Amino acid sequence: MTTSSVRNFQMVRRNWLDVDPSKKGSWTWKSVESARLILVAGACKQVNNGESILTWEDPWVPDLPYYKSVPLSPEMQSRCLVVSQILTPDKSRWDESKLYELFTEESAKAIKKIPVKVSQREDKWLWLKSHKGKLSVKSAYKELLDHSVPNVSDQVKSKIWKSKIHDRLKIFLWRVALDILPTKEKLTRFFPAMDPKCPLCDASPESSLHLFVYCHVAIFLWAGNEWGCRPEAIQFDCPVYA
Ligand SMILES: [Zn+2]
Repeated sequence: MTTSSVRNFQMVRRNWLDVDPSKKGSWTWKSVESARLILVAGACKQVNNGESILTWEDPWVPDLPYYKSVPLSPEMQSRCLVVSQILTPDKSRWDESKLYELFTEESAKAIKKIPVKVSQREDKWLWLKSHKGKLSVKSAYKELLDHSVPNVSDQVKSKIWKSKIHDRLKIFLWRVALDILPTKEKLTRFFPAMDPKCPLCDASPESSLHLFVYCHVAIFLWAGNEWGCRPEAIQFDCPVYA
């Protein structure tokens, strides 16, 4: 997924971020749909000339929940309004009387914090989860992990930390249990064209648990190791994902 994917939201449908996912569509498209919640968490429009930002529909106020402005009353939402219309006629600052006439006080205050530059540049999408405002696989992946790390049971924690192995291996095992390794199964959420199958058996999706515990090649390798490690003894799947 690239920054251009975010810029091209409008090519899909203006309200794509707000409507329920389509049940139809290709596997690739469904992969894009599955990433939508991540995009909603970080995608916000930067006000330049303000002419392409729909005041009520688009995310454009960084300090508000979901970056959406809130109308002072529901009737306000029936007014089709773009952001440039709430600037002063010379487009050099916010029109404060309009702000307090249209928005809740919280929204008006948050909008006033947005700097206004006299500009003819088009508005653009920003990804607020990265310092540079650009969407990258790395930042989207981090966002995904922040929202999807499962609770690891005390039983599993105890087994991992009390095992007599090097600390580095304990940390690695911990990451397997949390399922936060960049496996193909995870990466296909961002690279739909990637083959998600395990390169060892070419049968199941390459998840952490499959790769290190359930893949028949992994089972064979574990069985032959000289250290007596038996990952299946930890029972990752049951308490971790219960
Ligand atoms: Zn496999």
